[in-house]
Amino acid sequence: MHRSTLIQAREGLRKKQFSALELTEAVYQRIDAVEDKVKAFVHLTKESALEQARDADKKISAGVDAPLLGIPLALKDLICTKGTRTTCSSRYLDQFIAPYDATVTERLKAAGAVIIGKTNMDEFAMGSSNENSWHHPTFNPWALDRVPGGSSGGSAAAVGAHECIASLGSDTGGSIRQPASFCGVTGLKPTYGRVSRFGLVAFASSLDQIGPMTKTAEDAALLMNVIGGKDPLDSTSAENPLPDFSEALKGEVKGLKLGIPKEYFTSGIDPEVEQAVRGAIKTLESLGMETVEVSLPHTGYAVATYYILACAEASTNLSRYDGVRYGHRSEKSDNLLDMYLNTRSEGFGEEVKRRIILGTFVLSSGYYDAYYLKGQKTRTLIKQDFEDAYKKCDLIVAPTCPAPAFKLGEKLDDPLQMYLADIYTISANLAGIPALSIPCGFTADNLPIGLQLMGKHFDEATLLKVGHHFQQNTDFHRKFPAL
Ligand code: GLN
Repeated sequence: MHRSTLIQAREGLRKKQFSALELTEAVYQRIDAVEDKVKAFVHLTKESALEQARDADKKISAGVDAPLLGIPLALKDLICTKGTRTTCSSRYLDQFIAPYDATVTERLKAAGAVIIGKTNMDEFAMGSSNENSWHHPTFNPWALDRVPGGSSGGSAAAVGAHECIASLGSDTGGSIRQPASFCGVTGLKPTYGRVSRFGLVAFASSLDQIGPMTKTAEDAALLMNVIGGKDPLDSTSAENPLPDFSEALKGEVKGLKLGIPKEYFTSGIDPEVEQAVRGAIKTLESLGMETVEVSLPHTGYAVATYYILACAEASTNLSRYDGVRYGHRSEKSDNLLDMYLNTRSEGFGEEVKRRIILGTFVLSSGYYDAYYLKGQKTRTLIKQDFEDAYKKCDLIVAPTCPAPAFKLGEKLDDPLQMYLADIYTISANLAGIPALSIPCGFTADNLPIGLQLMGKHFDEATLLKVGHHFQQNTDFHRKFPAL
């Protein structure tokens, strides 16, 4: 049962092949069997989950039809859940219990979902390996000596190891897509503004988006139908009408024009990744799509631009953690200034401190114009690159990451190497466009490889449709890790 996709689980429940309680218990059995090795979760909410499952069974018997009724899902631990901890994998928030549900949590619950636990992440979503978690690292289900990616590594590993039917992650600079590609799952970063950020702990507010991490594009479409759409509690959430993403999967893909960005296929890409991605492009062509070369000339500036802007926003967002309102407070201090200093020194990990320092620097007087303002201008150029490219194509196809999952510890001493590996994912965040990662192959060592599809603003439907057609014709997403 735990191996079911969301669509299969829903079918099974509707046809009464199993109950929501049985499905939820099966998922916890799987967790009991593999979680010691994978460590995808930071806390499980078994008691309330079983209660939600029983409640779902009652509703199913009463003929209630809700899109996620009885489906066990996991949430990244920066999505607020009323009454249970939301730690952001930070010592600072280790005991924090949100007084309200995030809008996405509320929408999932209203759709009948069973929330089974909160998943591990890099502290405050800063990182690409989950090694920045204050709790513990998470291990890649395909190779336990490798990272699951980050920052939504726990959500990706939980889906990849079949410890949940699907999960939610967040993506500020690739944090859904990169771990999805490392763990062999499907991950969608929606258009900025498509999904409400209310109750998502902020990292870089102009880039953050919540999105689905699933076993198939079809499952992601269903989750988007539930979590997407305007929210009066998030002023940046968009009014754009929400299409029925599941319906949209059925559309035609023949004749779609795929842009192949030449800057994404230069030196630095792992040959096995390139081979798998080129193979995937051939598959898409065989389904009737056409390819055209496009150029995104400012790609080389994306990493620098992202790390300036994301750190700047993080430095202001994280100023709220002052030891006064919530979270950790240092015991050591006898005056207010020392209390601030000690609280933040004790509460934040190294990478978070590095980002606060970098962000404060680029915003400081005398450096603001040279760094922050220039970063904003470069962001506009990157966005224009995509607008120009979309004059020639309907979507853009590229690798999700330059290389497959790396070994734990491999990049830990070299933050710059870690940042540079975000090269293919961060442009979509800077431009605000949607992007999907789907499995498209394996290396000789049996590590998953991800294909990235980037779309026009608010055109998640085309990405999911192409992803779905690809998955109908391939079986990379159906493989199970040995564990
Ligand atoms: N690797 C990126 C970073 O460390 C991604 C973060 C994210 O998307 N949350 O900032």
